[in-house]
Amino acid sequence: MSIPELYTIYRQYSSVQTDTRKLNKGDIFFALKGDNFNGNAFALKALELGAAYAVIDEDVDATDERLIRVDDVLDTLQQLAKFHRGQFNIPFIAITGSNGKTTTKELVHAVLSSYYKTYTTIGNLNNHIGVPLTILKIKPDAQMAVIEMGANHQKEIESYCKIVQPTHGIISNVGKAHLEGFGGIEGVRKGKGELYDFIRAHNGVVFAFDDYDYLHEMSKGINNITWYGTKNGIVCGQVKTSEPFLEAAITKGASFASIKTNLVGDYNLPNVLCAIAVGKYFNVPEEKIQTAIESYAPSNSRSQLIEKDSNKIILDAYNANPSSMKAAIENFKNMHADNKVLVLGGMMELGETSVHEHENLVNLIQKNHFENVILVGGNFKTTHQSFPYFNTAEEAGTYIQQQQFLNTSFLIKGSRSMQMEKVLTAFDR
Ligand code: ATP
Ligand code: MG
Repeated sequence: MSIPELYTIYRQYSSVQTDTRKLNKGDIFFALKGDNFNGNAFALKALELGAAYAVIDEDVDATDERLIRVDDVLDTLQQLAKFHRGQFNIPFIAITGSNGKTTTKELVHAVLSSYYKTYTTIGNLNNHIGVPLTILKIKPDAQMAVIEMGANHQKEIESYCKIVQPTHGIISNVGKAHLEGFGGIEGVRKGKGELYDFIRAHNGVVFAFDDYDYLHEMSKGINNITWYGTKNGIVCGQVKTSEPFLEAAITKGASFASIKTNLVGDYNLPNVLCAIAVGKYFNVPEEKIQTAIESYAPSNSRSQLIEKDSNKIILDAYNANPSSMKAAIENFKNMHADNKVLVLGGMMELGETSVHEHENLVNLIQKNHFENVILVGGNFKTTHQSFPYFNTAEEAGTYIQQQQFLNTSFLIKGSRSMQMEKVLTAFDR
């Protein structure tokens, strides 16, 4: 079946599902293959559950006119998304970067959706499946789309750009993340730069943080750049306080002199300025911009502040890499609190630099004179020096519980697979 033919079916049902457990009647089921599952095996189940059609790429043990056989289900899903994208003549804003993509995406979405019908990536669905699924959720009433794109290797962003065809692009930053797949920091820059390459080739618009010299370098040849920054740009601002929530002074570009957020960490400043700049660019009224940003609260263990009895916990257990660890530790260092404890989990996907990066981090902790430090898993196993070390977050939690901390501030951060949020049980007593 050709993509336009399949698209006619999609238009009729307009809902796509890849997981039979979440299937609703009338969904079109796409039988994707993962490491541990083969969607083709669930195709008949999907039809039984009320799927309108099931798209498959392997023989299944039945004939049913609702089975649509294609060469490659994933490729078909991506092509269908691309075709759907082509039906819209609206701004498509793509966001990539090493850190802060989801936060920037959520803030930009909050601002734009206060004034325009805006569709965006749900949660962190930013990969080869999440990006097309996000696109296929966009309805004809859309006025704006904000799409997060994650990547851990070269040519990945390029492939997403072919589907998303972004008119506007944001690289939140380039840091030490997924070094293994990208091949070092230069590789990360090149990989993320594929978004700029697309924008450059299609005469699109970029929003970029002026303070990062590398973004000036990378964006050369792009005609339309909207800068925001601490000193230069259409919107300028500085950190007023981040104790514990970021409040930014807005020194240029908006009528409000400051903006209060529910975000922990001064590293969120560029994310906030970006959302203001995008809002201004698209003529969102300033009071709506301000209210949208001030009302946004993060979820999913992403820089959340939790108070347990007399203790304060910054839970940033959603993910970690050398750049975001450094930003979080430095922010924590600047916080005024009498007793501070760092609870850090290992960082994944660093390849051959992994031991070195864990060593660097232990050195950074020592340089900043943190005394109470608990390290968990990853290559901290060999680099923890004299700091207490545990293999799992649960074990660290038990240790923390035994210490009976009072009036203490904690920073809990680590890669997703370390499940550092499990440390929290230590505070339930
Ligand atoms: P993922 O790769 O998992 O999709 P992401 O890029 O979407 O991550 P967020 O989920 O927004 O990033 O933020 C994750 C963490 O990155 C934050 O909790 C914080 O520690 C750090 N972070 C956020 N913004 C920045 C920034 N501008 N600079 C450095 N670190 C940041
Ligand atoms: Mg994300």
